[in-house]
Amino acid sequence: MKPLAYHELRDVFIKPGCAICNLLKRDIEHYIDTLLYEFTLDLDVNKAFREGRGFCNEHGNQILEHKGSSLSIAILYQAIVSDLLKVVDQASGGPSSRPILARLLRADADDGLAAQLGPSRTCMACDMLAEAEGRYVQALSEHIGDEPLREKYEQSEGLCLSHFRKVLRQTRNPAHYQIMISTQQAIWVRLKAELDEFIAKNDYQRTDPMGVEGDSWSRAARRIAGEKGIFGLDRREG
Ligand SMILES: [Zn+2]
Ligand SMILES: [Zn+2]
Repeated sequence: MKPLAYHELRDVFIKPGCAICNLLKRDIEHYIDTLLYEFTLDLDVNKAFREGRGFCNEHGNQILEHKGSSLSIAILYQAIVSDLLKVVDQASGGPSSRPILARLLRADADDGLAAQLGPSRTCMACDMLAEAEGRYVQALSEHIGDEPLREKYEQSEGLCLSHFRKVLRQTRNPAHYQIMISTQQAIWVRLKAELDEFIAKNDYQRTDPMGVEGDSWSRAARRIAGEKGIFGLDRREG
């Protein structure tokens, strides 16, 4: 029996863009929705959100795209601002203000306050994406020998560079490895031809209208970078 991820991949390959990015875009939307509507008052989720000082840069901004959630967002971030104030109050008030005192005595004395203000765990949204991504990468790697799946991949716009590399790294079966390479290679050959055509048609002497190559430049940029919001990896200072 094939895993759910197999069927999801097969169905999503017909959509524009990298299949794995598209599934992850759906997953992150759902995850943030659930967080805002159901988990705002869940103490464990709240605790994890606080420990991560909210989401990373990418997902902290993505949360704002969920309209009508201002109260949930306020509740989640109220807790974080309260935590930050507690840390700063402790550092700046009375006899317990050791970090500030140490900083005054010696410029490189103590990184304590900066460290305490930082997150003590990774972004929950990034963690969820990493886990889901692992499932899709594994399903593709294991089942790419399956003809209907391979066909859908071949007809698609291909994987983004990062997901293609992840699948290659995961693939131990030599036949599957070969299928992955030849399929993605054929897709890149098509893309390259469209970029060539787009560039050639921008010559002032050419008067023929643009065809499918008209948006090849934006498709190429997205296939190399991956879809927006998918690689919002947690890159904040510890
Ligand atoms: Zn991708
Ligand atoms: Zn994140």
